Amino acid sequence: MKDTCPSCLARDIAPTESRTRGDRIVDGYRCPRCRHAWATVRDLTAYSELHARRAHNRQRKAAA
Ligand SMILES: [Zn+2]
Repeated sequence: MKDTCPSCLARDIAPTESRTRGDRIVDGYRCPRCRHAWATVRDLTAYSELHARRAHNRQRKAAA
């Protein structure tokens, strides 16, 4: 997932590495403009819940 540089606010920076830690994903970034490095942690459970809900809605539609 792309992120914005917290230092110079350059947008759409792709992660240089993605690591999964339990139910969390850690994306590491390095800004090509100012060389600032940072990491963003995202909770995977929030995403899987969203996917489960979507799949449920799809099943309901198919049944109707
Ligand atoms: Zn930057």
